[in-house]
Amino acid sequence: MATQPGAITARRPLDGEAVQAFAASLRGPLLGPSDAGYDAARAVFNVMVDRHPALIARCAGSADVMAAITFARAQGLPLSVRGGGHHVAGSSVCDDGLVIDLSQMKGLRIDPARRTARAEPGLTWGELNHDLQAFGLGATGGYISITGIPGLTLGGGFGWLVRKHGLALDNLLSVDIVTADGQLRTASAEEHPDLFWGVRGAGAQLGAVVSFEFRVHPVGTVLAGPVIYPLERAPEVLRFYREYAATAPDELTSGALLFSLPPAPFVPPEMHGARVIGSPSATLARRRLGSGCCGRCGSSALRWPTSSRRCRSTSHSARRTCCGRRATTSTGSRASCRR
Ligand SMILES: Cc1cc2nc3c(=O)[nH]c(=O)nc-3n(C[C@H](O)[C@H](O)[C@H](O)COP(=O)(O)OP(=O)(O)OC[C@H]3O[C@@H](n4cnc5c(N)ncnc54)[C@H](O)[C@@H]3O)c2cc1C
Repeated sequence: MATQPGAITARRPLDGEAVQAFAASLRGPLLGPSDAGYDAARAVFNVMVDRHPALIARCAGSADVMAAITFARAQGLPLSVRGGGHHVAGSSVCDDGLVIDLSQMKGLRIDPARRTARAEPGLTWGELNHDLQAFGLGATGGYISITGIPGLTLGGGFGWLVRKHGLALDNLLSVDIVTADGQLRTASAEEHPDLFWGVRGAGAQLGAVVSFEFRVHPVGTVLAGPVIYPLERAPEVLRFYREYAATAPDELTSGALLFSLPPAPFVPPEMHGARVIGSPSATLARRRLGSGCCGRCGSSALRWPTSSRRCRSTSHSARRTCCGRRATTSTGSRASCRR
């Protein structure tokens, strides 16, 4: 369905009457190059992408999407489908074609009893999870809350809950999708199973998904944050991380990154641009035992009720005491206790 970025170069005149009839059939606005809002609507997250669609249909519902696909077919126009607009190649916006812009469709229905959520494609992961949290639930989205749910889900989608609950598409139960013939279909394991199989990984090529039904999960307290070390310590930190990640519980998702610290508010100014190795991590808190890792000591670590009955923490503090024993020492090294 989506055009290849940059593949469409020929400008063709549009049939004015057909465009007017199309605009009149829509509940949402249809924008052309001379309309206010056109430039904002064609902009995507990657500011290097600068494409000029002939028309942008800001769809308000499934009927608009059906009309848009039917119009594009009749006119022989290239199409692209836009969700959150975060694809780095800007594939949600085409040159000289019709953009089916779903970013205004933000409907959401949560069923706390069944632990499902039906979400429209204009929602970001942050918006979806904001509402799910009112029920103590969370969806398996990406690491960054501002990305759109459609592109991320249809391409796989990995994020903070991936180790415990899988990819975003592993949690997809069904989709409502407008296919290339302009018809709305529901695809799930039971209905149009081949289409459902294809959607999970290649969905952007099979139609415009107008709603996603997700399985969602209990998500209470989440502890998260990066642990940062100077780049010179990378060999030591990576060796530790290899061992640590292999034994960490599924509730914890983490990574090891080599990067330069951004000029963000939480970074001290003297450290802007510093080259570091860091491990951003988030963990679902299953049980917190007061202020002690085993309920007996004074560290602030968590105890994971895993079979190894082991707790660990990393710390910037020079020394820490754990279970009455002095644990391993210098800044950034591991503090651990076993019993
Ligand atoms: C800052 C940033 C952080 C990111 N973090 C993560 C991450 O943590 N995990 C991860 O897995 N990925 C991540 N990504 C990659 C992200 O998953 C993709 O960019 C994804 O395409 C974004 O979805 P979108 O809806 O915003 O994209 P869009 O750019 O709107 O669309 C991407 C593609 O999907 C198609 N598409 C969009 N909506 C539909 C629809 N409703 N039906 C059919 N096709 C559609 C478009 O045509 C386009 O080809 C990140 C990207 C950025 C820029």
